[in-house]
Amino acid sequence: MVEDCVFCRIVAGELPANVVYREDGILAFIDIHPAASTHALVIPERHIEDLRHLTDDDAALWLRLTLAAHHVAEELGHPQGYRFFVSVGPGGGQTVPHLHIHVLAGEMRRLPV
Ligand code: AMP
Ligand code: ZN
Repeated sequence: MVEDCVFCRIVAGELPANVVYREDGILAFIDIHPAASTHALVIPERHIEDLRHLTDDDAALWLRLTLAAHHVAEELGHPQGYRFFVSVGPGGGQTVPHLHIHVLAGEMRRLPV
């Protein structure tokens, strides 16, 4: 855990979150500033700064994060599909340096910056 990381603090239960999925080292919760009528974030419980920090050893984790995103979208009522994206580093608009997949569905309001 990284002490000053917002998402590590959510994982640790130190900050509240609207959790929609938790299984085997993966957590998903509703984005605090939703950019669509459904906007969830899927994260590894382990602190990984961004996509560039994944290694070959994380291949299974990345697949499971992807499958968790599908699952969350379906559970939140969007079997017809959703938008899946990842901000990578400050240059990619990433504001929280703990890897997360955005899951947006339903009415899209804006793209998060
Ligand atoms: P990004 O800008 O791609 O790094 O995405 C970070 C996302 O985290 C933004 O959409 C924020 O609204 C969201 N966020 C930041 N803090 C929290 C929090 N405490 N709980 C839920 N979502 C958060
Ligand atoms: Zn973290």
